[in-house]
Amino acid sequence: MCKHLTHEFIEGRRLHLVNRRKVTIDRSTVESSMPEAHRQYKLFTVLPAIDAALQRIEAGDYGYCHDCGEGIPQKRLELRPEACRCVSCQEAFEKVNSPQEVVREHPLFARA
Ligand SMILES: [Zn+2]
Repeated sequence: MCKHLTHEFIEGRRLHLVNRRKVTIDRSTVESSMPEAHRQYKLFTVLPAIDAALQRIEAGDYGYCHDCGEGIPQKRLELRPEACRCVSCQEAFEKVNSPQEVVREHPLFARA
């Protein structure tokens, strides 16, 4: 399991992600006023990122950078529980990938 993160911290992130997952689905399916592009973004970009983070928690490799394998700082996971890269790898990733690809990997949540 993650050596740099406590079990309590990961459990907190998990609950946060589960709640955000539910809110994302509810808002996207119940709110008919939501613009279609926004709804699609929520369902096909935000939701998969949340699911991927929950799968990493399940698998026991949550909190490690996808690219360099280093532990992702706790502060970053507090702001972005779905983050799969450390800041420097994320910056490198954004330099070589299209904006769509970056958004898919690193969605910006309009509302917390
Ligand atoms: Zn990294």
